[in-house]
Amino acid sequence: MVNIILFGPPGSGKGTQAKKLVEKYNLLHISTGDLFRYEMGNNTPLGKEAKSYIDKGELVPDSVTVGMLRNKVEANPDVAGYIFDGFPRTIPQSEALDELLAEKDQEVHRLLMLDVPDDEIVQRILERGKTSGRKDDLNETIIRNRIEVYKNETTPVYDFYQEQGKSVTINGVGSIEEIFDRLCQEIGQLAQT
Ligand code: ADP
Repeated sequence: MVNIILFGPPGSGKGTQAKKLVEKYNLLHISTGDLFRYEMGNNTPLGKEAKSYIDKGELVPDSVTVGMLRNKVEANPDVAGYIFDGFPRTIPQSEALDELLAEKDQEVHRLLMLDVPDDEIVQRILERGKTSGRKDDLNETIIRNRIEVYKNETTPVYDFYQEQGKSVTINGVGSIEEIFDRLCQEIGQLAQT
């Protein structure tokens, strides 16, 4: 199995790249953002709770997020590996993920961080907001809050996996194909070892 965390600030291209990686390596893409949007679209109790945080650009509480992630992993045991996108976003989520994978005699193999400057991120998200239908993409204040939350709560996750020798920074500026090639170089090496 190859288990990858696709990491980076909001709007760094994780979703776009994950879709391409899934096709190439036949992995299961698990995006907590997509899972929340599905729940919100169906107006479930979980969706209603998540919405109150997401619309403000805050993180959904760890207990809710971890429970949802665990259900998704456990519902899909027979896969070639997982691409985690938008998860883990906090240290407790990282610990929970390591525990969950260890129960299956598995581990995270790499955290790949897409590195994109703040101003480019804001522009990309505002552009996406024109068509995404996402409330959290429309307002620059909320977008900047998401970037702050990323810096304060989420970047420690990079260091957490760095200590395990697993974190790699990838230049996230360029064409979709160029960035995809950079990611494939890392994952290709992994598949050979
Ligand atoms: P982005 O484009 O900002 O990376 P996502 O689609 O990954 O957005 O997530 C959208 C929102 O869903 C986040 O701003 C956050 O409120 C919530 N969310 C997604 N993943 C998590 C998580 N692992 N922990 C807590 N909240 C999350």
